[in-house]
Amino acid sequence: MSERHRIVVIGTGFAGIGMAVRLKQAGYDDFVVLERAEDVGGTWRDNTYPGCRCDVPSHLYSFSFAPNPDWSSTFSPQPEIEDYLRNVTESYGVRPHIRFGNTVESARWVDGAWQITTNQQTFTADILLSGMGPLAEPSYPKLPGIEDFEGEVFHSARWNHDLNLSGRKVAVIGTGASAIQFVPAIQPEVEELHLFQRTPPWVMPRPDRKITAAEKAIYRRFPLVQKAVRAGIYWGRESMVLGFTKLPAIMKQAQKIAETHLAHQVRDPLLRAKLTPDFTLGCKRVLISDDYYPALARPNVEVVTDGIAEVTPTGIVTTEGVKHEVDTIIYGTGFKVTDLPVMDMVHGRDGVSLREAWADGMEAHLGTAIAGFPNFFMLIGPNTGLGHSSMVFMIESQIAYILDALKTMDAQGLREVEVRRDVQRAFVAGVRSSMRNTIWTRGGCTSWYLDSEGRNTTLWPSFTFRFRQLTRRFDPAEYQTLAM
Ligand SMILES: Cc1cc2nc3c(=O)[nH]c(=O)nc-3n(C[C@H](O)[C@H](O)[C@H](O)COP(=O)(O)OP(=O)(O)OC[C@H]3O[C@@H](n4cnc5c(N)ncnc54)[C@H](O)[C@@H]3O)c2cc1C
Repeated sequence: MSERHRIVVIGTGFAGIGMAVRLKQAGYDDFVVLERAEDVGGTWRDNTYPGCRCDVPSHLYSFSFAPNPDWSSTFSPQPEIEDYLRNVTESYGVRPHIRFGNTVESARWVDGAWQITTNQQTFTADILLSGMGPLAEPSYPKLPGIEDFEGEVFHSARWNHDLNLSGRKVAVIGTGASAIQFVPAIQPEVEELHLFQRTPPWVMPRPDRKITAAEKAIYRRFPLVQKAVRAGIYWGRESMVLGFTKLPAIMKQAQKIAETHLAHQVRDPLLRAKLTPDFTLGCKRVLISDDYYPALARPNVEVVTDGIAEVTPTGIVTTEGVKHEVDTIIYGTGFKVTDLPVMDMVHGRDGVSLREAWADGMEAHLGTAIAGFPNFFMLIGPNTGLGHSSMVFMIESQIAYILDALKTMDAQGLREVEVRRDVQRAFVAGVRSSMRNTIWTRGGCTSWYLDSEGRNTTLWPSFTFRFRQLTRRFDPAEYQTLAM
């Protein structure tokens, strides 16, 4: 079966849903959204592990056009964010456009159109918009012997809810943003928890609190108040950019807060030493938690800092030869961020894949358009990630840019737009030069922000309002265009 549409969007996370809503509002109706799963939600549908919640306040981590007066707390839990995305999908009439159960296998630019093949059928489109997500593909470590392990193994992004963890001996691999949320949630339940830590993260206090019924009523009655709260959060977070990008020395001050947090919560000097990072705060993602350290101080938890030599049928042996008997292994090992599946899926002009185009690292003009890939725009493309604020802000900036591109194409009768290679190069050179003095490259750590060559192709190295300014208007002079 084959269908033709003006626009095909891939993915139904914040990016795909936001894009679809805005397309509809702008009067574009001939589009479909392809989603491999059976419901919307992306990150917030897939990450159902205990304790999962956002770490950017909900008033900011939501669409500007769809404020939610009913967030239960400052940092809302995953089920609420998933519901929020479902509600936005329904209330803006996007659901009829979505084709669930369609896993995109390839998208090729052939004879002036995108030919998209899913596991179900093919689609032809003039415009292809990818919202496939930067953190959608779980990353699994290669552990020797794992195939012989006799217990249960799963990744935090594919939580096994059928498994009752009570009384089990559990190994958790990794101490990133997900692990620090689920470790305190499962610690009281399990018999033993062996936490395998390669690098300790910096952990700041989590200023979370319930949002009262009175506050919710005010937000419902006076939406401007909620808007003002959102703006306050936005500017508070934006001020952190200085520390990340311009004056890394500022981070030393923030680090003192994290050090005090650790000292207050962990009394045992040996454990505290294990949990003290040896890099400047900010170099890796800064985590927030009030219950992570206390959980690690409980008697049923051991923090293992030696490397993993092998997995046996009944446990994990460290590089020091110590065997940890476990019956469950949970990967808190994050996602494939710099080796995205989209790289082998999308083929532009002359059949060139994104992987080939990105042989020297991922790059895109404004993190959105790529030379050699006409009429293709990527939401949360290279260098649009954030360490301090809401990704939804970046997504909305990109959506506005793409809409302006579509309007410009219509107004000027353009059939094709493809960003000029020199324009892309100049933009990327600017990004790389701004990246040089940031905490991510100078903070003394390796992180998932960096690719195998040590380049930071994931984060935006400046203020987010700067990104918004740059994406405010689509400039056809920056593109090679072909008239109808
Ligand atoms: C646990 C967790 C917590 C986070 N917390 C925050 C936070 O507090 N603040 C913040 O700013 N960011 C946070 N993030 C980052 C988060 O990923 C982004 O904020 C945002 O949700 C990304 O939205 P997206 O639509 O781009 O991608 P996703 O939400 O990942 O959606 C991508 C969608 O594309 C679909 N898809 C992928 N490949 C295909 C294919 N081949 N065919 C069809 N469909 C496909 C997926 O099924 C999915 O539905 C968090 C991430 C995780 C994992």
